[in-house]
Order: sequence, then C-alpha cells, then structure tokens
Amino acid sequence: MTVRLFHADHVLPGDVPPIADGAVVVREDGEIVDVGRAGEVLPRHASQSGATIERVHGVVLPGLVNAHTHIELSAMRGRVGGGRGFVGWVDSLIAQRPEVSVEENAEGIDAAIDELVRTGTVAVGEVTNSLAAVAPLARRGIGGCVFHEVFGQDRATVMRRVEGLRAELDERFPSWPSRDLTYAPAPHTLYTTHEDAVRALLESAKSYGTLTSLHMAEHAAERRAVEHGDGPVPEWLLARAKQSPSWPKQPLFDFAERLGALSPMVLLVHLVEARAEELARVAEKGAPVVLCPRSNLHIEMKLPPLLAVRAAGIEAGLGTDSLASNASLDVLAEAKAFADRFPGVPAWELVKMATWNGARVLGRTDLGRLAKGSRPGVLAIEAEVTGDPAAFLLSNLRLPRRMLAPRVTEHRS
Ligand SMILES: [Zn+2]
Repeated sequence: MTVRLFHADHVLPGDVPPIADGAVVVREDGEIVDVGRAGEVLPRHASQSGATIERVHGVVLPGLVNAHTHIELSAMRGRVGGGRGFVGWVDSLIAQRPEVSVEENAEGIDAAIDELVRTGTVAVGEVTNSLAAVAPLARRGIGGCVFHEVFGQDRATVMRRVEGLRAELDERFPSWPSRDLTYAPAPHTLYTTHEDAVRALLESAKSYGTLTSLHMAEHAAERRAVEHGDGPVPEWLLARAKQSPSWPKQPLFDFAERLGALSPMVLLVHLVEARAEELARVAEKGAPVVLCPRSNLHIEMKLPPLLAVRAAGIEAGLGTDSLASNASLDVLAEAKAFADRFPGVPAWELVKMATWNGARVLGRTDLGRLAKGSRPGVLAIEAEVTGDPAAFLLSNLRLPRRMLAPRVTEHRS
C-alpha cells in the first residue's frame, strides 16, 4: 500500500507535546504509519516507499473531535440570547423553536456540517431528539457517537417514549447509515428526565454496547431542584408544563450514582457546578467528561472549573454544544476560551482536549492523535508559525485549515 510523507515545521500529535521539524507518514487508507522528528522518520520511509516528501510550512495535527454537539439545533444560530441563566435560555429556545421551518432546519444542519468540515472536525458527540442530523453527518463522513435523547418528568409519557425508541430508530433507519457513528439512547438530565426513564435509558444503552451521555451539573438551578426541590427549575416546570415532579432531595452526585450514571459508560457533559470532592468521585468512577466553556459563558456567564477538573486527574474532552448557545462549531475556539482565562495551562494540553481527549471520551481511540495505527485524518494550518505552535494555533483560529489526508470512511446510503 502506498504511503504519503509529510514534513512539517511543527507536528502537534494530539496526545503528546509538539515536535519541531516533524514528519508524519500516512498510508493511503488513512492509517498513521510513523510520526516523529523529520530527521528520524523520513530516512526510515523515503527510500523504501519511493514516495516524494510533501513539505508543509506550518502545523500538522490530527482531525478535531467536537465531543458535545446538538447539530439538529443549528438553525437556531444567533436566535437565543444568553446571560439570563439556563431556565431563561431554554424558555427562549422553546418559544422560538416552532418558528423555524423544516427547510430552515435542514439548511441549518447542512451549513453546520459544512462548518465542521471546514474546521477540520472528524467526529462529534451528537445529542439528538429528532435524529435529523444523523444522515447528513454520515453523508459527509463525520463519525463519533449519536446519543438519542429523552426527557420528560411525567412517568407514563416518558416511559412510553423510552419503550418506543427502538421502533422509531428502525422506522427511520432500516439500515444505520454509518459504521463510523455509534448509537445509544440517552437521558437529557437528572432533573428533566424521570428517574425510572434514566435507569431504563442507561440500561438500554448498555445493550447497544456503547457509551451514552448525560448533561450533568450544568447550572446552579439544577442542583437546587435535585437537592432541595425548589428554585427556578420547579417553578418553570410548573408554569410551562404544569408538572410538579417529586424531587429526590439528595446530593446531586449521590442521586447520579444511585441511578448508575457515574460510570465509564456515561459521558458527563458540563460539570460547571461540580465541587472538588465531586470531581474526585467522577475521576474515581472513571466517568468520561466533556466541557463546553463558550456555551456555559453564553448561558450562565460562568466557566467550567478547568483547574479543579485537571487537579482531579480528569482528562476532559471539549464540545461546542449547540449553535443556540454558541457562535461557532469550532472546537479549537473552546480551547482558546480556556487559554484566555487559564494562561498557566500549556496550550498543547488545551489542543489535546480538542483532539485526543475528545476521541477518548467518545470511546474512539482510533481518532484524535497522530500515532502509529490510528486513523485520525491529518489536518494542516499553513502559516509562518512564531513561538509555541499550539499557542499560535489558538491565536489564529481564522487561518484556513486543510485536510492533507482525510479519514477514509465508509458511508452506506
Ligand atoms: Zn448540550
């Protein structure tokens, strides 16, 4: 099988620090054969393969992983203002959602996927109520995980929906459109999904043999509802849905553990409100974590506790969340949001969150790093790089990105 040899000013492998004057060797099926210093890698391959060396002036890195998206909401871009907290934000989202036509939704999804491709994103953790983005993602060769989300506090209604998921899926997709996208049912949150439904969804996800996802500790009103049964969430549920659920009145993370939601098979999204001892518990349980700093800034004007997450030993991925709470789907802009506020964290480790950590939290260790045997897609930013290449990348998000060697994926239409 033929190979391509890339010799770059800088290689950012994703999982380890940058390599100055580096090289990457890629097989035509997208598998990484070798990576390291150009002076060591190129002589090993140039003579035997007969391939010419392609010189890249700039930075080479793996395809990006956006570990938390709601691509189906992309038509809401710019329509939902922030700064009023989660309840105010979701109220505005729900009010405006019906005003968006079927065509606008489809166009929004297509434009969003164009943006994913343009930014060099190869995989997403897509949370979806409607499955609307699944086929478009598959068509464009974007992989990752589909989390089929359910919410509702009325037990009978929500359990009917849980029981109907399989039939809904089979009707919508007589054959699943991509081998590169996993599927799992998922609870929305612990305060919007009846606890019996949470249990059933987590159990059902296990039968698909893949991990699922849960929005967790996103905002203060969530903890207040679960732990005390009062505050903005119960008031909102009563006013909008005429619902008055019985609240567990138990510490949020105790409740999560009781339902089986602290596990390596449940991706915890947000953790903005998680305290140090709760993060230690998440780490101890081996639960994967994704942080969405720009979405949290938009909605609650608050950042996730990055330093405490790192101190707990959690290797979190990054996600943009939806365009209803973010300006773009560029996961490197999430890394940049952290770089601006936590200048003590090495820039390459923030890029790692958008590549290798993202791949790992989605259970996709074939992605997210330029390492022998992986197939992450090889991305380049061609520019005169000054200083640390990872910091340069984060300061120059508008530079064009080009897939030098795309992932080779199989799409079944
Ligand atoms: Zn979300």
